[in-house]
Amino acid sequence: MSFHSLGLNSQLVNNVQALGFEQPTSVQVQAIPEVMAGHDVLAGAQTGTGKTAAFGLPLLDKLMASGDRPAEKQARSLILTPTRELAQQVFDSLTSYSKDTGLKVAVAYGGTSIKMQVQALAGGVDILVATPGRLLDHAYVGTVDLSLVNTLVLDEADRMLDMGFIDDIKRIMKRLGRERQTLFFSATFGKAVKKLAYDILTDPKLIEV
Ligand code: AMP
Repeated sequence: MSFHSLGLNSQLVNNVQALGFEQPTSVQVQAIPEVMAGHDVLAGAQTGTGKTAAFGLPLLDKLMASGDRPAEKQARSLILTPTRELAQQVFDSLTSYSKDTGLKVAVAYGGTSIKMQVQALAGGVDILVATPGRLLDHAYVGTVDLSLVNTLVLDEADRMLDMGFIDDIKRIMKRLGRERQTLFFSATFGKAVKKLAYDILTDPKLIEV
């Protein structure tokens, strides 16, 4: 199996090959076609399995194929992460996967200047990577418009629940577009994680690594 045969845009394939990715990992082989086909996905995957590219590459492919541009302050897709470190890491990965695609990726997390984030969001973004609390701050003051987000990724959903983000996640979900593809990644599946997945996913494809 190759990245090319998964049907990804050739610019994306070139970008990951330039990073030294020769073959897709197991979670990538399983998730990429399902995401490209428009399905919701429920994936059990730990850090180190290549999960970021498993949701990131088909998301970038979908955004490129649609050809739409984000309006001012608008985010077209959203990736939620539990920690600042993970948000930055996902942002860095997506920035390198999306090289020369013209897509805009931004990151927003707490503990750092909100001013720069406001500037990055002002012109609209294709993908926003964010932690829940800081994202809600932006949503409440109107520096980001989430109402047309049509793809949501929850990365490390179990850690987000462990860290007490369930209410923030619910508040964020209420602000998103109704027609939505949702990708749910978690390393573990305790009761609360299963309930959240059941509540927010529609007929998901199950992926285990
Ligand atoms: P992740 O699980 O997304 O945190 O990725 C773990 C590490 O694997 C990162 O350093 C990625 O750059 C790397 N990686 C992801 N996919 C591949 C691949 N298909 N081939 C080689 N390395 C990869």
